[in-house]
Amino acid sequence: QAKQAGRNGMRFFDRQMQDRISERAKLENDLRHAMERHQFALHYQVQVDAHGKAHGAEALLRWRRADGSWVPPASFIPLAEETGLILPIGHWVLNAACAQIKEWQSVPGMEQLILAINVSAQQFRQPDFGDVVRAAVERHGIDPRLLKLELTEGVLLEKIEETISCMHALRAIGVRFALDDFGTGYSSLQYLKRLPLNQLKIDQSFVRDLASDSSDQVIVRTIIAMARSLQLDVIAEGVETEAQRVLLEELGCRRYQGYLYSRPVPEPQLRALITE
Ligand code: C2E
Ligand code: MG
Ligand code: MG
Ligand code: MG
Repeated sequence: QAKQAGRNGMRFFDRQMQDRISERAKLENDLRHAMERHQFALHYQVQVDAHGKAHGAEALLRWRRADGSWVPPASFIPLAEETGLILPIGHWVLNAACAQIKEWQSVPGMEQLILAINVSAQQFRQPDFGDVVRAAVERHGIDPRLLKLELTEGVLLEKIEETISCMHALRAIGVRFALDDFGTGYSSLQYLKRLPLNQLKIDQSFVRDLASDSSDQVIVRTIIAMARSLQLDVIAEGVETEAQRVLLEELGCRRYQGYLYSRPVPEPQLRALITE
């Protein structure tokens, strides 16, 4: 009896595994063709300053599959990284972002907007990453100071010497850097002070329960103090409520990004939000 159940259990398990494997294979296959099928798009989420004025935006990648369904980045970026597809995808994002910055140069009220893009570890680790970014900036004829690259702690701390020299080369032409999801990794001040960053982004996990969780308040306060001592700009991610914003302001944060202002939206909506 037990043996029978065990065998059935195993068969059930096999089938589940099979389903998962073929689903993954299908996703991977679809992802391989997504570029030529023009299924990628950038959505934009506004970033505001203490006066509620838009000073920047973050470009967030979206994938619309042939059946019309939207796949969130969390469900395909890891796969893209495993398969190396993140390289052509990342290149597409970089170029689309530069083209967008160029277009904003003729839109009153958007000329100064700083656009941030997310850069994955693999992409940043390419030996020619700096050249690729420089070439994109030149090809599109944009001011490099309007482009910001968001990296995570893991990326920055691995091969720190190479990281620093690549960042310096891009900083020299004006490209900005933000440290994304800050507080979730293990950066020490020691490392942080060596990185030519412009901004720390307080991870949304510290913002979510800010009102009720006093340890989150301590963490946020500490991050802001660190940013100040390193002379870095700081922005809070995932700001959803006015209460969170007020608390963040009390803690010394002056830049915010989150649903309180806008979800990530297609470009025409961002434009309307900023220019109207
Ligand atoms: P991230 O860079 O930390 O982006 C912030 C995420 O938080 C976005 O999720 C955004 O939609 C979401 N968010 C913004 N405001 C709020 C809020 O008020 N509340 C809540 N609950 N969430 C908020 P999204 O768009 O699903 O992106 C997830 C992650 O995927 C990004 O995290 C980033 O790591 C990655 N990603 C997105 N686009 C790209 C890309 O072009 N290239 C690479 N390599 N990674 C990307
Ligand atoms: Mg980001
Ligand atoms: Mg983040
Ligand atoms: Mg993230």
